[in-house]
Amino acid sequence: MVALPRPEAVVRVLVLWALSGEKERIEAARMYFIDNMSPSDIAAKVGASKNVVNGWLGRLKSENGNSLGLDAVLRSCYNRVMEVPSILVLRPEGYSCVVCKRKRLERTAYHILWRHRELLEEHTAKVIENCLKKNRSSSARRSQTRPDPA
Ligand SMILES: [Zn+2]
Repeated sequence: MVALPRPEAVVRVLVLWALSGEKERIEAARMYFIDNMSPSDIAAKVGASKNVVNGWLGRLKSENGNSLGLDAVLRSCYNRVMEVPSILVLRPEGYSCVVCKRKRLERTAYHILWRHRELLEEHTAKVIENCLKKNRSSSARRSQTRPDPA
């Protein structure tokens, strides 16, 4: 039996990556699930190894339960997720947090989960409300939304 997809969990990971300043992961997901690029081509584009790219893609698949509907999630949420501001910035000495001013952060996702979980939940709820639910409920308004990049 195939598990039901969990698009909300996928959005949460995408927002976590955005907040962590790791937007190349979100771009990689778009290239894979929408543009149908291979992991090795994506790896060359974002400057990471193919194994690392496969790790990011695998994370999204496991959060979702499988690959079903991931292209639709990326299509409806990509632009909005990319607008979520990064609160961690990479300095020569390591990642610094612009919210709490802590420096030399090594485990960026943990910092967000431990110190700024409310920001993560807030942005995740907004993206789900603005992108997932809107697309699901109002096909009438679809003509006003941005056309899919074909
Ligand atoms: Zn912080």
